[in-house]
Amino acid sequence: MNAPSEPALLAALATVIDPELRRPITEMGMVESVEAFDDGRVHAVIRLTISGCPLRETITRDVTNALMRVDGVTEVNVELTVMTPEQRAELKSQLRGDSVERGIVFNDEDSLTRVYAVASGKGGVGKSSVTVNLACALAAKGLRVGIVDADIYGFSIPGLMGITQAPTKVDEMILPPVAHDVKVISIGMFVAGNQPVAWRGPMLHRALEQFLSDVYFGDLDILLLDLPPGTGDVAISVAQLLPKAEIIVITTPQAAAADVAERAGAIAVQTGQKVAGVIENMSFLTLPDGSTMELFGSGGGEILSKRLSQTVNAPVELLGQIPIDVALREGGDIGLPIVLSHPDSPAAAGLLAIAEKLAVRPRGLAGLKLGVTPR
Ligand code: ADP
Repeated sequence: MNAPSEPALLAALATVIDPELRRPITEMGMVESVEAFDDGRVHAVIRLTISGCPLRETITRDVTNALMRVDGVTEVNVELTVMTPEQRAELKSQLRGDSVERGIVFNDEDSLTRVYAVASGKGGVGKSSVTVNLACALAAKGLRVGIVDADIYGFSIPGLMGITQAPTKVDEMILPPVAHDVKVISIGMFVAGNQPVAWRGPMLHRALEQFLSDVYFGDLDILLLDLPPGTGDVAISVAQLLPKAEIIVITTPQAAAADVAERAGAIAVQTGQKVAGVIENMSFLTLPDGSTMELFGSGGGEILSKRLSQTVNAPVELLGQIPIDVALREGGDIGLPIVLSHPDSPAAAGLLAIAEKLAVRPRGLAGLKLGVTPR
C-alpha cells in the first residue's frame, strides 16, 4: 500500500478554516508538518496561536475529518503545538498587512466596510435585539459582518448571540468570537461574571478605541455598533472614532418614545454623521383571532423619520416596522436570533426586509477618493 501523497494531504488541510481567523490554516502558518506512512496513518503537527486556545478541540476535529477524507488515509493523529513569538508576529503581519499598529482600519480611505451605529433614545426598545437580528440576516446573505457591543454598561450582545467563549488574544491582537457567522466583540467578554462596569468618559473612549483598533475583524462588509441608549459619552466617542458611521435609530410606536429617540438621532447634526434610517420596533401584536393590537400606540416611527429628515435636512427613511413576537424574545433568551430560528414569522420578515435594504444601500461618496490616476 502506498502512503497518501503530501500534496493531497495539504490540499485537504487547505479546506480547514480556522474558526476565529476565518482563513485556511495552511495560509496562516498553522501547519507545521504532515507526514503519511505506508499503512495509511497520518501524523499532522498543527500550530495554535496561543497555548490556551479555546478552539483546540474544534481544530483537532476539523483537521482529522479533512485528512480522513483523503484516499488511502486510515488513521489520523493530530499533535498540537504553539506558535513561537516570531511565528505569531508573522501571522499578525500577514493578517494586518504590516506589523505596525494600524489604528482603526474602518477609517482607511479605501475601507469598504459600511459602519452602522444602532441608537435609541431610551433602553428596552429592542435596540440590541434588532442589532443581532440584522447582523445574522446580513451574514446569512453571505455578507461579512461584525458587531461591536458598545453598550458598555448594559452589554447584552453575547447572550443574544449565544456566545460564552472568550476572545483569543494573540499578543495585543484580539480575535473576536464568531457566532452565527458574525464576529462579535463586547465589553462583557472582558469582565468577570456579571460585574457592573463603572467607567467614566475617558475610560469608555479608550475601551472603544481598543475594540476598534486591536480587535482583528478582517475584511468586513458591514460593522454594526450597538450603542448605549441616549446621547451620552459613547455616542460622541463613536462619532469621533468612526466619523463615517451612519446612525440607525430604533423607536417604539409611542409618540413620547419618538420624542426621546429624536434626540439620539439629532446628535448626528452636531457630530456631522449621517442618519441611515429609523426602525420602529414593537409596532403591534397579532392576537390569536388574527386581529392586531397596538400595545404602544402607533405612528412613532413615521413621526421620527419626518422629524429627523427636517433636523438633519436630508431624507431619513423609515426602514421598517417590526411587530411584537414572543419568539423574538425567546430567541434572545437562548442566543438564537429569530431571523434564524423562525425566518417565516412576521417579526423575522420585517427584520429580513430591513437587512435587505441595508445590504444594497449605496455607499455615500462623500470623503471617498475616486480611483482616477493621471497617466
Ligand atoms: P434595548 O437594547 O433597547 O435595551 P432589547 O433588545 O434588550 O432592548 O429588548 C428589550 C426586551 O424586549 C428584551 O427582553 C427583548 O427580548 C424584548 N423585545 C425586543 N423587541 C421585541 C419584539 N419585537 N417582540 C417581542 N419582544 C421584544
